[in-house]
Amino acid sequence: MKITLKAGREKSLLRRHPWVFASAFQSVDETHASGSTVDLISSEGQFLARAAYSPHSQIRARVWTFNDEPIDKEFFRKKIREAIELRNRLQVEGQSDAFRLIHGESDGIPGIVVDRFGNLLVLQSTTAGSEFWKEVIADLLIEETGIQNIYERSDVDVRELEGLKPITGVLRGAIPNPQLQITEHNLKFNINIATGHKTGFYLDQRENRHRVGNLAQGRNVLNCFCYTGGFSINALANGASSVLSVDSSADALALLEKNIAINNLPADRHTSFEGDVFQLLRKFRDENRSFDMIILDPPKFAPTAAHAEKASRAYKDINLLAFKLLRHGGMLATFSCSGGVDAALFQKIVASAALDANTEATIIEHLTQGNDHPVSLHFPEGGYLKGLICVKR
Ligand code: SAH
Repeated sequence: MKITLKAGREKSLLRRHPWVFASAFQSVDETHASGSTVDLISSEGQFLARAAYSPHSQIRARVWTFNDEPIDKEFFRKKIREAIELRNRLQVEGQSDAFRLIHGESDGIPGIVVDRFGNLLVLQSTTAGSEFWKEVIADLLIEETGIQNIYERSDVDVRELEGLKPITGVLRGAIPNPQLQITEHNLKFNINIATGHKTGFYLDQRENRHRVGNLAQGRNVLNCFCYTGGFSINALANGASSVLSVDSSADALALLEKNIAINNLPADRHTSFEGDVFQLLRKFRDENRSFDMIILDPPKFAPTAAHAEKASRAYKDINLLAFKLLRHGGMLATFSCSGGVDAALFQKIVASAALDANTEATIIEHLTQGNDHPVSLHFPEGGYLKGLICVKR
């Protein structure tokens, strides 16, 4: 099946960006089935790409290939093999038995995320096209990795935009217990692939947890938005004098306490606090509390650029308070995983927070998502995590 684009709307495809918006099509033929493969043709009749059609989404088509090649099981085998080979080359397994095997568009498979947790895989399908090929992809994952057990966590809001309902549960094999233990940089973490955030763990922060942990020795640390304690465990393991971990989720904090125990870390140096970070930072400011290191890893405030302004205020708010609470020479490790706030804007927000806190600060490191979450040069949206380590001067 062929769909013709309006004149001039082939430009983004010629730059190899994989998304085509509904407004780019000359006419929208409603007979294309959800997820079916269509050829995208320029107004001058030139073949541009082969894509998955999504009748309900504003992103009406997502490109599988810019070549004139069949989209079939062997096509996906090739993509999956490439993704696995890249992770082998990166030797991610030497650092952790939990890592991202397939990162959507950036691995050439829009809509598919696959994370490996030890001897099982968690798959997330978010688009009409990925849903269409999901069973084939599940079979291929077993054939290409040798791993028999796959859990599905297709329960993200964006599926609604594609006209898809949430789906969770065992996709292949048997997974009697969704709670499992992984090892990251020699530290153990309990995770729950059925109820945890994302596919169970924030794998994208692995290297940053390690990096920030290494700077925590002898420091009193405030870890805001701690989830199951990724940064707290690394800080304690590296000899932090004390760690206060804050999150609004009681379930996350319960796992954090377990994670401290299974790593034999000194529980007497750790305190969990269940509550709202925005309120707590204000309370600490009013009490003149201070810390040597503050970590801010909030949830996505701006999923898209449309939310950037409101998100910017929230980022500024917490960073300003953090700068106030830091001792002279203290470190702020601050992150944003919002696609709608790019690295340059994030740095500006942090700078204006320091200014309003009347603080001098320098950046000692720019951080990003781990290399098992690669970013296609033609799909900058694949890069979403940015972080700065700043020192208060
Ligand atoms: N740093 C963590 C991931 C943090 S995810 C890691 O390395 O694993 C963001 C966390 O913020 C979630 O656990 C969520 O429960 C928590 N959260 C969201 N809004 C919050 C708020 N207003 N106050 C406290 N915690 C919040």
